[in-house]
Amino acid sequence: MPPKILISACLLGRPVRYDGKGKLLADPLIERWKAEGCLVGYCPEQAGGLPTPRPPAEIEGGMNGEDVLAGRARVLEVTGGDVTEAFVEGGKKAVAFAREQGCDVALLIDGSPSCGSSFIYDGSFSGARHPGLGVTAALMRQAGIEVFSDRELDQLAAHIEARG
Ligand code: SF4
Repeated sequence: MPPKILISACLLGRPVRYDGKGKLLADPLIERWKAEGCLVGYCPEQAGGLPTPRPPAEIEGGMNGEDVLAGRARVLEVTGGDVTEAFVEGGKKAVAFAREQGCDVALLIDGSPSCGSSFIYDGSFSGARHPGLGVTAALMRQAGIEVFSDRELDQLAAHIEARG
C-alpha cells in the first residue's frame, strides 16, 4: 500500500490561501507521490469556516500554536478580528481527516499560522519570523502525526523509506 501523506492544499496549487492563490510545490518527489496516489490535500483554515480570500492572520505576541491550544494566545487578523476558534476548529478537523484517510505523516507549508512547523510570523505583521509551530501543526504533533515542512521533502522521503 502506498503511504498516505496529508498535504497543505495550497502546496498542490489549490487557490485556498488568504490571498486567494495557491503555492504549488514543484518537485519530482511531489510528482511521484501524486502519481502513486499518496497525497491527500486539506486546508485547515477553510475547514474552520474561514472565507477565501481572507485577511492575513498571525499568532499574537511572538507565541505559537501550542500557546494557542493552551489558551495563552490568540490568532488575530491584520484587521483585528479574532479567528482563534476557526483556526483550532480547522486544525482539529485536519487531524480527524488525516486519521480517516490513514495519513500518519503530514507535509505542511512553513510559515503559516496554521501549517507552519519550523517557523511562523511573530504577530506584528512586519514580516518578522521566529521558530515555532502553527495551530494545525501543533495539533498534528500532539496527535502523533509526523509533520514535515515543504523544505523537508528529502527527510520525508527518507522517513517513508525507512518505515518500509
Ligand atoms: S491553512 Fe494551510 S493549507 Fe490552508 S492556505 Fe493556509 S497554509 Fe495553505
